[in-house]
Amino acid sequence: MDDVQKELIGDNHVLVNKDTPLRADAFDKPDEVKVKNIQRHFERIMEELGLDLTDDSLSGTPYRVAKMYVKELFYGLRPDRRPKVSAFENKYAYDKILVEQDIVVDSVCEHHFLPIVGYAHIGYIPSGKVVGLSKINRLVDYYSHRPQVQERLCLQVLEDLQESLETESVIVIVSAKHLCVSSRGIKDKSSFTTTMEYGGVFNDSTKRDQFLKLLEAGRAQSFSV
Ligand SMILES: [Zn+2]
Repeated sequence: MDDVQKELIGDNHVLVNKDTPLRADAFDKPDEVKVKNIQRHFERIMEELGLDLTDDSLSGTPYRVAKMYVKELFYGLRPDRRPKVSAFENKYAYDKILVEQDIVVDSVCEHHFLPIVGYAHIGYIPSGKVVGLSKINRLVDYYSHRPQVQERLCLQVLEDLQESLETESVIVIVSAKHLCVSSRGIKDKSSFTTTMEYGGVFNDSTKRDQFLKLLEAGRAQSFSV
């Protein structure tokens, strides 16, 4: 495949792979070494763009970018950074739908390395297990903090929750703006993208409708805490 074909795949945001494509040696080097190396490479990029790295304002940028990539934006690449999601026995035998909505999504498009910002809305029907509510937010945060494709983010969150909660009955909606669509290319400032993945009882459209109605009801509230 030549560079033009590869560019088209990225520009059309085609999901090619369900799993984040990682090299076999992805985590052989410690983070500190990765930061040093990325810093060096980013210096080259800036120099190539014609920037003067002796300028006070620019001289620290390669280090800042490298640290930001490794420690913040892409921390979710590391399996050892996945939040521990301990599931508890569902003692109250709650067997109705539970919704966690407006979970912030701060991600990065893997095709352009530009931000994807939006919200995730998640519902599940407990079987024998429940998890702490904040754990759902943390899982979304974790899978968001890696170079992503929105469809894959949706699927990775779904599959992790299905496993953690020991039930197929989970639904995940992600609505997000892609800066690669709003700031370059078509430069559409208003459009956003919605993706959905689900399993178990949510294969039944009446259950999905129930979830969507609850989201609407939630939106009608104005919480101020
Ligand atoms: Zn993109």
